[in-house]
Amino acid sequence: MFLAFTATLALGQLPAHRQVQELVDLHAPQYVEASKAIWGFAEMGYHEDKSSALLQSALKSAGFRIDAGVAGEPTAFVASYGTGQPVIGILGEFDALPGLSQAATPDRSPVVQGAPGHGCGHNLLGAGAALAAVAIKDYMEKNHVTGTLRYYGTPAEEGGSGKVYMLRAGLFRDVDVVLHWHPGSHNAVFGGALAIVSAKFRFHGTAAHAALAPDRGRSALDAVMLTGNGIEFLREHIPSTSRVHYVITNGGAAPNIVPDTAEMFLYARHPSLPALEGIWARITNIEQGAALMTETTADTTIISSDANVLPNDVLSKLAQKNLEAVGGFQYTADEQHFAEELRKSLPAGTDADLRYTSLVQPLRPIDPNEPSASTDVGDIAWNVPTVGFVTATFVPGVVPHTWQAAASAGMSIGQKGMVVASKALAITALDLFTDPRLVSDAKAEFKKRTTAAPYKSLIPSGQAPPLDYRRN
Ligand SMILES: [Zn+2]
Ligand SMILES: [Zn+2]
Repeated sequence: MFLAFTATLALGQLPAHRQVQELVDLHAPQYVEASKAIWGFAEMGYHEDKSSALLQSALKSAGFRIDAGVAGEPTAFVASYGTGQPVIGILGEFDALPGLSQAATPDRSPVVQGAPGHGCGHNLLGAGAALAAVAIKDYMEKNHVTGTLRYYGTPAEEGGSGKVYMLRAGLFRDVDVVLHWHPGSHNAVFGGALAIVSAKFRFHGTAAHAALAPDRGRSALDAVMLTGNGIEFLREHIPSTSRVHYVITNGGAAPNIVPDTAEMFLYARHPSLPALEGIWARITNIEQGAALMTETTADTTIISSDANVLPNDVLSKLAQKNLEAVGGFQYTADEQHFAEELRKSLPAGTDADLRYTSLVQPLRPIDPNEPSASTDVGDIAWNVPTVGFVTATFVPGVVPHTWQAAASAGMSIGQKGMVVASKALAITALDLFTDPRLVSDAKAEFKKRTTAAPYKSLIPSGQAPPLDYRRN
């Protein structure tokens, strides 16, 4: 009797969260295929033509309105469904990283030597966010839920700050809450990320024969090296949670010519955007000091800058509850074998538990001393109440921006983690559409957090998206 009852129970009679999760399962095969296709395209920031087109076409056929090529970014788009309040946004990314081409195998095996690869799992990120959007849209349609759902196709997360220009174009102005996720090696609510600024310092001096007439020369390379030395001394006097790292991208042409041009490419990071602004001013003082010492001139090009990710406790608690309700996933015997083989390539002492995939980490406050990276989600979080998830798409112990991450992102382990994220995103969106109190509480907390130090991007106003930054 009971069996007969459950077998005939229609989707519409199930509790709302379960219905939405079943809609995710229903659409999952299509978006797993999309994640595989984008993994294969492996297109770099601002050049994600095929990846962006694929997601646009999937969302369009699912009933979303598409606004493509927004904010002066050819691969950026907004897909919308519904009308009115609230407006809930879900972020998608799809850019790859240079040099990380990798087959979906547990040994280092590039598909194309030196080509880009999805070492940050953005193939899963973009497809998984779209899967969540399609599931919640189906639910809204069937159940006459009002409000506006938007999927933001955001290019060039890896160093291109694509979302900053979308913000500046006003595309988030009317959004109430933004949801996002990122591939990772455990299941948790998304924690903090560092504010970052990246720039190129170019010095211009005077060329001369380095032996015959060095007195006539003024070395731009000397200025680069003095800037580096200045930064090394500065380290003692900035907060220990700062990061400053650089490379010399032009050190001159030949030892027997005093270099008349030289260039360094540097990143500076700190857990707080306002604090980073102060540190950055001191670094540019060093740049100017180096120019003065060497009688060269300096010019600065800001390449990108992302804000730190502001937390929102109201949304984090909701996200935690929902991620726990979804739960993690178990490896099959084949996946367990893949994971064990892959982990042989990790440094000795890497001991993250493989069972992390089936667990959800407890909610913790952001620890500024914990190692972290940066993301342009931070700029969104300074403008709209924002919350996100991390799920175990990479074999535990694997870190992003590695071939091991690219391998996991191209096979079933990554795809299972993606579906966990899609479900958590979709039920969280549903809660926000159906409980206005959650939205107003999240906005009240956001207002408190941003009143003392309002958002300010370190990218100069009026600067266009650096569409060719990968070739700079
Ligand atoms: Zn990354
Ligand atoms: Zn990433």
